[in-house]
Amino acid sequence: MISFTLQWENVLKELYGFYKKRENLVAYDTYIKQIEPAFKDGNNYFFKSNNIYQKEMVVERFTGHIREHLSTDQLKLGLEPAEDIIVMLPAELDEYVTKRKSGFSRHKRIQLNPFYNFDNFVVGSSNKLANAAAHAIVMNPGTAYNPFFLYGGVGLGKTHLMHAIGNKMTEQNPNINIAYITTETFTNEFIEAIRGMKNKEFREKYRSLDIFLIDDIQFISRAKETQEELFHTFNTLYEANKQIIITSDKHPSDISSVEERLLSRFKSGLLADIGLPDYETRVAILTSKQVYIKKQTNCSLPIDDDVIEYIAQRENTNIRELEGALRSVIAHAQLYNFDGQLKRIDKVTAADALEDFFTASQTKTIDSALIINKVAEYYEITVDDIKGKKKNRSISFPRQVCMYLLRSMLDMTYPDIADKLGGKDHSTIIYADNKIAEKIDKDPSFANNLQDIKSMIGGK
Ligand code: ADP
Ligand code: MG
Repeated sequence: MISFTLQWENVLKELYGFYKKRENLVAYDTYIKQIEPAFKDGNNYFFKSNNIYQKEMVVERFTGHIREHLSTDQLKLGLEPAEDIIVMLPAELDEYVTKRKSGFSRHKRIQLNPFYNFDNFVVGSSNKLANAAAHAIVMNPGTAYNPFFLYGGVGLGKTHLMHAIGNKMTEQNPNINIAYITTETFTNEFIEAIRGMKNKEFREKYRSLDIFLIDDIQFISRAKETQEELFHTFNTLYEANKQIIITSDKHPSDISSVEERLLSRFKSGLLADIGLPDYETRVAILTSKQVYIKKQTNCSLPIDDDVIEYIAQRENTNIRELEGALRSVIAHAQLYNFDGQLKRIDKVTAADALEDFFTASQTKTIDSALIINKVAEYYEITVDDIKGKKKNRSISFPRQVCMYLLRSMLDMTYPDIADKLGGKDHSTIIYADNKIAEKIDKDPSFANNLQDIKSMIGGK
């Protein structure tokens, strides 16, 4: 059998071609080439990264591409496609191997993001109450503010604050039993547990927690069984004075899919919302993010203050968008600085980089053209590729994602989708729609990528 190292060499060549074609060799050189193949465990591929920033970036942005290319290679060899691409620091790999040897069966996702902590959470008028509540919970979990229901628009810091609580509590007590889980994953795990007759294990896992962090509850499935499971999990934890924290992009009363009895539980503790940040908060957040993003992207150019102010001037933008704008400015400057002439990033460079950025994200109407554009942009292919007839996976897969999103975000009919995508056959679209829906259930890292695409489009 071909070794993983040799196989990776082949795949790297493919990836090089892929990024070269898209004129993004910076991504290839800075991230993809830097990770090293470690080992395979089943169909999961483990890579080593020696740098936490690099690791985070690869995990966030490139595992999708890597998996696609590895899978193509696997199929060529007559093997099953890659399931998960896992990037770990050396110490994490060691820990994994030790646990694996001692009979630990599945790789445990590292649940809490260490970069979402209180130290880098900027407090302003828009999140003051939520932040104060979060600190109070850390001091006295499971008492006054239970459950803590945190709500607010997309990209405003709910997940960050939730992880900050989890990180702080772990720091205070490393043995504390915490689960952070998105509602989608909770649902999928539950369904899988039923299928595999593992209901008891599932119950034990969630009902024995000290702290339960459940993110994006607006995605709760209407299925009676899921709601019931969550209801009982909630009650068991609540009665044992264990802390429950829930986030949502809307007020509980506005989540139509939640049963009444669960709703009343959600509303029984503390409700806090996070709003849009004001100008000062936007400047403070960007200033603090700047250090982190520069490290992540190996950027050594100083950034002028007025660049930050320029970006922060945008009203009604969420923090994820602001951060995205800053990343674009840095990427743009790096790309155009191949000759090393640029000494600093100034407002002119920023304005140049952001010419299209905000206009696209501020027109709130989501239409088929926007979806097609953003999917193409995400997978670094062209709109013509999506509408065209090419059959290679690096194009046909994004095309299927596009079909799925046109249906799920715009409720378009199959014939209309066919029409927008250059006259594809209905059955192709139905097939794509089902396939992607299934993949979301089975593949959490793909589900995450899809969430990124949706937020690029500006939807939920
Ligand atoms: P939400 O869960 O509300 O959609 P996130 O928690 O994912 O939003 O936040 C989006 C991005 O904005 C993250 O990178 C997060 O670190 C950043 N962010 C949000 N609020 C703050 C804040 N108050 N200070 C620093 N960064 C923030
Ligand atoms: Mg979130």
